Amino acid sequence: ATPTAIMVGTGVGAQRGILIRSGEALETLHKVNAILLDKTGTLTVGKPSLTDVVPLNGYDANALLRLAAAAERRSEHPLAEAIVEAAQRQNGHTISEPERFESLTGHGVRALVEGHEVLIGNARLMVTEGISIDDFTAESERLAQEGKTPVFVAIDGRAAGILALADTVKESSRRAVATLQQMGIEVWMMTGDNRRTALAIARELGIPDSHVMAEVVPEQKAAKVKELQAQGKIVAMVGDGINDAPALAQADVGIAIGTGTDIAMEAADVTLMQGDLLKVVEAIQLSRATMRTIK
Ligand code: ADP
Ligand code: MG
Repeated sequence: ATPTAIMVGTGVGAQRGILIRSGEALETLHKVNAILLDKTGTLTVGKPSLTDVVPLNGYDANALLRLAAAAERRSEHPLAEAIVEAAQRQNGHTISEPERFESLTGHGVRALVEGHEVLIGNARLMVTEGISIDDFTAESERLAQEGKTPVFVAIDGRAAGILALADTVKESSRRAVATLQQMGIEVWMMTGDNRRTALAIARELGIPDSHVMAEVVPEQKAAKVKELQAQGKIVAMVGDGINDAPALAQADVGIAIGTGTDIAMEAADVTLMQGDLLKVVEAIQLSRATMRTIK
């Protein structure tokens, strides 16, 4: 493209809240034929709220939430914030300060609270810590089927309950996915969340089961980008978190949601000022128009 066309294109993008870092990114966008979308915070609002407290093994629901909130209060994970908020709301619980706290990235947290060893996180974490959850998987799967994220709580080495959290799909996400698909672009969803929850949300969005990657760690997100590139695809990745940064850097065009973390924006070629995926559609259309002007 001519430098003038690129300058005009980037200028128009900026006016519409689409910050394009380079002329190359603007040019590449019109060739994108596969797009990978992060779930939490990108397709969804990213502010979950606590929906269910399911005590297990005879634990008390109130005590369960109180200990869980204390264990989570040092964590910055959105799930942790939701658990703490819910506990505070419930009869104005004062939340204890944990005596020890450890964040297990992508899995959960471990803390010592009121003399109790509290472990909170996904099923994989419980399994690696040798906590038996076999009797409770049906319950957790039921919650996941509703699109909720179930997290297990173990107290002193024993399963004590399941907390379920629900996040909301952004209204614009549904329309953006449909439009991208109509434009002939393959749409994928990637998440560290569990598979059943991911599938329930993907169905709401019209993303086929075969295009859902769940329970992934950050390196796997980047590996998926590479895999599609090896198939000759031109890949765009859209994400908001630290865990998306490797995939954003690997993609032909990395697109960060401006409401997310700085690390995601630094790794990306394009930043969307509002967290609205319809802006991805607009960016591609802008690129197509820019390329047309010069032909
Ligand atoms: P995402 O891709 O959805 O942002 P993460 O990689 O941050 O997911 O976490 C993956 C999973 O690990 C979560 O769905 C949750 O089950 C568990 N997890 C991570 N951090 C926490 C936490 N602080 N409390 C409870 N569970 C957690
Ligand atoms: Mg995210």
